[in-house]
Amino acid sequence: MLNGKTALVTGSTSGIGLGIAKALARQGANIVLNGFGDVDGPRAEVLAAGQAAGARVAYHGADMSRPADIEDMLKYAATQFGRVDILVNNAGIQHVASVQDFPPERWDAIIAINLTSAFHTTRLALPGMLANDWGRIINVASVHGLVASAQKSAYVAAKHGIVGLTKVTALENATTGVTCNAICPGWVLTPLVQKQVDAKAAALGISNDEAKKVLLGEKEPSMQFTTPEELGELAVFFCSPAANNVRGVAWNMDGGWAAQ
Ligand code: NAD
Repeated sequence: MLNGKTALVTGSTSGIGLGIAKALARQGANIVLNGFGDVDGPRAEVLAAGQAAGARVAYHGADMSRPADIEDMLKYAATQFGRVDILVNNAGIQHVASVQDFPPERWDAIIAINLTSAFHTTRLALPGMLANDWGRIINVASVHGLVASAQKSAYVAAKHGIVGLTKVTALENATTGVTCNAICPGWVLTPLVQKQVDAKAAALGISNDEAKKVLLGEKEPSMQFTTPEELGELAVFFCSPAANNVRGVAWNMDGGWAAQ
């Protein structure tokens, strides 16, 4: 379905971004990976997922808190594959502390990586998408783009912000072939959340499995983690012709979290 298209997925060396990159590669899209840590493992996984469909894979190590790196990555994507057709703004970090104890430098980093980076990628990718009259911008927000939790001021502010950016981008391009939508996961068991499971286990003196149940029980009625694979399939849907007129939505995949 996506042969000949190019997808840039930020923060795709791990977790949700990797799941989305694999799902898009399976549909034949060429992928530009981005993120820190091991690159060879994720690259091999995405190549394997896209092999039957003939997807190619490239990587750029832009630090999403640095606008100059982001510009360089967009230029690199154009050099590798000609254009970015699908932009998945996914890179994100978390820090848990009350407002009065929140380290200002962590606030700045979360706003830069979880929100401002998406402004830069979007403004840089849009001209190419509009010239081709086809594009998909998918912002990985969170259920925290819709509702709040204590101790997550920067994250909740950034995620509410990215839902707003999603709506504005969708409206400004509503008469074109470029759509912009957000995905709002509840708990997904990635390294970002495992840290919170570990903290809960340590604080309550309970096992890892018990801590997962406590975490789910506080917020997620289904008592199930959403998986990167499920989120990948939602991204594929947003890229499909059936989603041509889905514009500016913030789509929960949260086990009923925000329905309460
Ligand atoms: P993760 O920690 O598994 O992956 C984060 C990715 O972002 C990694 O590839 C990492 O290298 C990359 N990254 C971090 N800082 C970066 C930077 N400065 N520049 C470039 N890349 C950087 O986390 P995840 O859970 O897969 O989170 C992905 C996105 O999903 C985030 O935006 C997160 O807020 C969102 N999200 C996660 C959950 C969850 O429960 N895990 C729920 C809702 C939303």
